[in-house]
Amino acid sequence: MAAHLPRWSFDLDQARARVGCCHYADHKITLSRHLVVHLSAAEVDQALLHEIAHALAGHRAGHGPQWRRAAARLGYTGRRTVAVPAARLQARWLARCPHGHEYRRHRRPSTVAYCRPCSQRGEWFALEWTDQG
Ligand SMILES: [Zn+2]
Ligand SMILES: [Zn+2]
Repeated sequence: MAAHLPRWSFDLDQARARVGCCHYADHKITLSRHLVVHLSAAEVDQALLHEIAHALAGHRAGHGPQWRRAAARLGYTGRRTVAVPAARLQARWLARCPHGHEYRRHRRPSTVAYCRPCSQRGEWFALEWTDQG
């Protein structure tokens, strides 16, 4: 990035709705710390190139021809928006109680858990986790 934008800085942010952001006034590019973990290294590179192209083309260019030219010169091959495939954001461990209450976790829980709404009615269903990943 320094090669293209020597006076710009890079940071991570807390966004959940979009992967990257170009802060024109601050001369800064940020990527979401929550979403980049779901991207491959090559995809992170592409997300950065997308934002670098914004920095080079300027705020007013939007995703118009100037931005597209800058993006193509940088080797950006993605689209006008950068997104994490929805399936990757889904937690892979799924449990369902006999009454149909569903639970999802990113990691397999190590302790026994009971379906909460059912246990409040006096039915204790130990949740059984299946790997959907
Ligand atoms: Zn964009
Ligand atoms: Zn239940």
